[in-house]
Amino acid sequence: MMDQAPNDLPPITLLLANPRGFCAGVDRAIQIVEQALVKYGPPVYVRHEIVHNRYVVEDLERKGAIFVEELDEIPDDARVIFSAHGVPKSVPATAEARNLFYLDATCPLVSKVHVEAERHFEAGREIVLIGHAGHPEVIGTMGQLPDGAVALIETVADAEAFEPKNPDKLAFITQTTLSVDDTASIVAVLQRRFPAIAAPHKEDICYATTNRQAAVKAMTARDGGRADALLVIGAPNSSNSMRLVEVAERAGCTRSMLVQRAGDIDWPRLAGASRVGITAGASAPEILVEEVIDAFRAHYDVTVETLSVTEENVSFKLPRALMG
Ligand code: SF4
Repeated sequence: MMDQAPNDLPPITLLLANPRGFCAGVDRAIQIVEQALVKYGPPVYVRHEIVHNRYVVEDLERKGAIFVEELDEIPDDARVIFSAHGVPKSVPATAEARNLFYLDATCPLVSKVHVEAERHFEAGREIVLIGHAGHPEVIGTMGQLPDGAVALIETVADAEAFEPKNPDKLAFITQTTLSVDDTASIVAVLQRRFPAIAAPHKEDICYATTNRQAAVKAMTARDGGRADALLVIGAPNSSNSMRLVEVAERAGCTRSMLVQRAGDIDWPRLAGASRVGITAGASAPEILVEEVIDAFRAHYDVTVETLSVTEENVSFKLPRALMG
């Protein structure tokens, strides 16, 4: 039997978002684990998934990293790395008490929010953190200060209901990977109710989250020829990936789907789509984007276009212990 010629396949245009995928904080965190493995040899322990992506975690496991959730799972003479999401102050304190050697892969943009929280606390302000309960970044940020110093707000309704101790001594900070639009709505309520509330000097939602959401909006804009379905490559526990799906849905792209790998693609749901947007969360490696494009080539005659909203050139230094 003859192979089917590629041009017998139905045509489809894949619209690749730029920027997409790895951000500078994720890139740095992965490099910290890889370089620690080279410098110290395996095993190197990592507290929590270094970034929220199974592919990345399994790749590092093959190289000798051991992932744990808490320090009590680590032997006394081990080396440990804290994940990009940041940790409560109690975690390095426990590591020091046990004389564990640790490296902190917290993204510098998360550390910036930690410093802001401390500054507000020292100035006697009650702090409102806008974020998602249970996310490791939120646990880490709240854990910079004593219990009760930071109140968590997740929704506009929470902002409407919030009762501060003193409305004139109030500040807000945010998780770095939130929806830009949802956060603006919550901040608007807080500023209407508490005009004196102190705001971050520079937006806490990071450049990578903002740019990836802007690219999705551009891909799903309805002004002709844009994507009529969208795939976000990322993990369900990746906040910035989940926000990309929501941003696309709110922009009117009802066929917005999160996929971890090409095997997750719901082909029947794409039926009739002629332009499919593809993006990747900040913790999803480019190799998975390539895998998804290859999977499309098996089903369609593919044309690839890139839609670029900005170029990123951010990079962060590695910890001093790994330099030189
Ligand atoms: S998504 Fe933003 S805050 Fe999180 S690691 Fe990347 S750059 Fe840092």
